[in-house]
Amino acid sequence: MTRGPIIAIDGPAGAGKSTVARHLASHFGLLNLETGAMYRAFALKAILSDQDFDDGTALERLAAQTEVTLQPGRAGNRVLLDGRDVTERIRDSDVTQGASRVSVHPAIRAWMVRLQQEMGRAGGVVMEGRDIGTVVFPDADVKVFLDASPEVRSQRRYEQSGPAGSDPTAISRELRERDERDRNRASSPLQPAPDSVTIDSTAMPLDAVLTQIEELVRARCPGLAEAEGTRE
Ligand code: C5P
Repeated sequence: MTRGPIIAIDGPAGAGKSTVARHLASHFGLLNLETGAMYRAFALKAILSDQDFDDGTALERLAAQTEVTLQPGRAGNRVLLDGRDVTERIRDSDVTQGASRVSVHPAIRAWMVRLQQEMGRAGGVVMEGRDIGTVVFPDADVKVFLDASPEVRSQRRYEQSGPAGSDPTAISRELRERDERDRNRASSPLQPAPDSVTIDSTAMPLDAVLTQIEELVRARCPGLAEAEGTRE
């Protein structure tokens, strides 16, 4: 069986992966799968079970009793944890930090990678994360590593977080801590795949980023149908 195209979008927090992935999915008629949401859902399970984020053995046991499901849709992914919709709750700061800590454990990564490979097996997907082009789908048709300076990424996160009660210094500190863990963990650290195209969006308007990636997709996946007017 020939599979549909697989587009991998990797990069650090706040680089614009979600915006890009959502756009590509609606423009080229693909499913958008947000793998970070899966690590977040498992971190929430650890919080609800009072489990230590650093205890890899206990987390592995917990994973064996956990079901994480992504439901891709037009308005983004809904995320189910053991059948319960946790889409909004997993965006809270305790879960964000927890996701970056549970994701260092090799057994948790192996479990997630397996689930993600199953979800993307037939292709026709845009998958965003940290290790899609390096580990989950090393044979992806398009691999983009989207980056931006820590200052710009923190500022974007601050703007997304809304006016109520967000502290820019705390957002910047948390983002740098997550970066540090994601880039330095022993098991599949965040790094560009050797055959990925790195796009630094620090000084680029969103439209220019989207145009560059659309061109890349057209070149690598000829014949993909395109929708009109999908830019927000
Ligand atoms: O992308 P998002 O911010 O939702 O990811 C939450 C955390 O999950 C990241 O900080 C990272 O530690 C982890 N993650 C990962 N591998 C992925 C996606 C996310 O390790 N493919």
